[in-house]
Amino acid sequence: MENKTTKTKVLIIGSGPAGMTAALYSARADLAPVVIAGAEPGGQLMWTTSVDNYPGFPDGIQGPKLMQDMIKQAEKYGTKMVYDEAVTVNLAQRPFQITTKNGESFSAESVILATGASARWLEVPGEEKLKGKGVHSCATCDGFFYKDKTVAVVGAGDSAMEEANFLTKFATKVIMLIRKGEDEPLRASEIMLKRARANQKIEWMYNVEITELEGEEKLQNVKLKNNATNTVSDLKVDGVFVAIGHDPNTKFFQDFVTVDEKGYVEAKRPPQTNIEGVFVAGDVNDWKYRQAVTAAGAGCKAAMEARWYLTEKEDTQPTDI
Ligand code: NDP
Repeated sequence: MENKTTKTKVLIIGSGPAGMTAALYSARADLAPVVIAGAEPGGQLMWTTSVDNYPGFPDGIQGPKLMQDMIKQAEKYGTKMVYDEAVTVNLAQRPFQITTKNGESFSAESVILATGASARWLEVPGEEKLKGKGVHSCATCDGFFYKDKTVAVVGAGDSAMEEANFLTKFATKVIMLIRKGEDEPLRASEIMLKRARANQKIEWMYNVEITELEGEEKLQNVKLKNNATNTVSDLKVDGVFVAIGHDPNTKFFQDFVTVDEKGYVEAKRPPQTNIEGVFVAGDVNDWKYRQAVTAAGAGCKAAMEARWYLTEKEDTQPTDI
């Protein structure tokens, strides 16, 4: 087993739009960055089909293709991709130490955390197979495909209300699937609820939980259980948007980096974290916008800050990769 530690000036953890843009900018600054790609190389866009809101692609681009191209572009300028997961970090010591699941060690003068956030899913039969084929987690990204269709939104928090309102721009009907009863308080804030309730295109179903999503190539049927009566019924909709929250991926560095009350990395002056030389970009620091383009912009800023930080430090330590 190899014990060698790879030294690098910039180590980027995560390979979604934030991580790969940070890599591109760092590589073009001649910093030979290393990207630890993570459990889902390419990030959340690998689960989508056509991305129509990333500027520069008037005919849209498939999410996986966009990510493969971002990786290719970053590699072209000297990024080293490591297809592995970061599992432990020591950000208290300099240079920073990072180890991966496969036992590789890295020593980095600066770190960019771009680990993203994972949408919470229902984890019911059929969901995995139908992701991007009628089952989605982002209305801003995929709502446009449901022009003049009927869709359902799962959840009763602010995200669900916002997604539902947004979807009424396209869909003829949006059905809210809420697991709580009609007289129970919902998670969403009053203002968001009021707006959704005033929207004539939104219908409300209470005490319902999805037990199965049916279909082969696309969603055909939704199995619903009424948790008050324990009865099961079918719901025919063209699409289901799951809006039950996101989990920022911070677990392995939470002992060092400050997170806010929602669990996202706290950056009072983004992309700077509480640790000098450790920067953050993308959804792991952003519960609000969560877009590929905003993540890419944040990745660019993080890379530039890392470069300025390294320049300021006047570090001359060579990289051995
Ligand atoms: P939340 O955690 O606030 O809400 C999650 C919702 O999903 C709850 O209604 C919960 O129901 C429901 N839920 C969870 N699991 C399931 C399940 N398996 N089946 C059915 N329903 C489920 O997440 P959000 O993403 O809505 O919001 C996260 C944060 O972002 C909040 O602080 C919110 O205020 C903020 N936000 C603000 C916005 C704005 O201001 N414009 C827009 C979007 C988000 P239950 O209550 O029964 O547990």
